[in-house]
Amino acid sequence: MPLAPEAAAGKPRWTGYVEPEPGLRLPCTIIRGRVPGPKLLITAGVHGAEYTSIEAARRLCALAPDSFAGELTILLILNIGALFQHRAFHNPSDGKNVNRVFPGDPKGTASDRLAHWAVSEAMSGMDAYVDLHGGDIVEALIPFSIYPASSARGRDLALACGLSFAAASTKRGHSYGAAADLGIPAVLLESGQNGLMTEETVRLLETGVKNIMAELGMMAKSNRPAGPAPRLCRMEVAMAPEAGYWHVETRPGADVVKGQRVGMIRDLIGEWEKPVLAEHTGPVLYNLTSLAVNKGQALIGIAV
Ligand SMILES: [Zn+2]
Repeated sequence: MPLAPEAAAGKPRWTGYVEPEPGLRLPCTIIRGRVPGPKLLITAGVHGAEYTSIEAARRLCALAPDSFAGELTILLILNIGALFQHRAFHNPSDGKNVNRVFPGDPKGTASDRLAHWAVSEAMSGMDAYVDLHGGDIVEALIPFSIYPASSARGRDLALACGLSFAAASTKRGHSYGAAADLGIPAVLLESGQNGLMTEETVRLLETGVKNIMAELGMMAKSNRPAGPAPRLCRMEVAMAPEAGYWHVETRPGADVVKGQRVGMIRDLIGEWEKPVLAEHTGPVLYNLTSLAVNKGQALIGIAV
């Protein structure tokens, strides 16, 4: 089924399911504004337990067509298997993190095919793309955005969204990078933590999208709140050198200095323990909160 089914043609609002492949049905809403204008794609639930993102997308589906110009396509739950199986990060179909396999592969496993469909079908013809995330079950964080370092327009969207930090990324495999490779300005918004959602964290994402719509000329700029500009940064991530128990000793928003101990990894039977030292100075954007840590897993992201 194409992303914009025939049933959606000519309607100011269409809600239904799109089917990337037989048996996989994803909820979708398309809203056409009062006049033609930019086409914006919004995805949420790439990580199925980041409920803040899905709830913000669900609320955005209620936007009145006469309140904006252009066209909004909202895919509320990309990783729907993870949502209903309460899985952090991973797609239960193949155990992969969907936001590490972009631009995907039509001949690969379920996550590869889903990412390929998102790039080749959902992003096709779009003028901008916002990927909503919300702090997974084992992640504590303060709100921030991530944009492809190569994209000046992506940086504009990150600066416009209103979240406190805007991190440039050169990493591969992510949704926003795949969009940038297509020439589509893209940004990832992150708000919420530990699989919890609050009015405040949901509203930050909802408002963030509206601020981006204003930046794109889809809404009046007056919708944008006054406040300090986000801090432009990059995020340096410390990885776990070993598997074991993880005892974090800092928290999101705390300022750490290079060399400071930010946590301990302890052996399961008490034979050793290893301090984890900050390799950079700056505020903590996120940290792993689970007691269990795997070797090579991200422990802490610091804004530098
Ligand atoms: Zn996520």
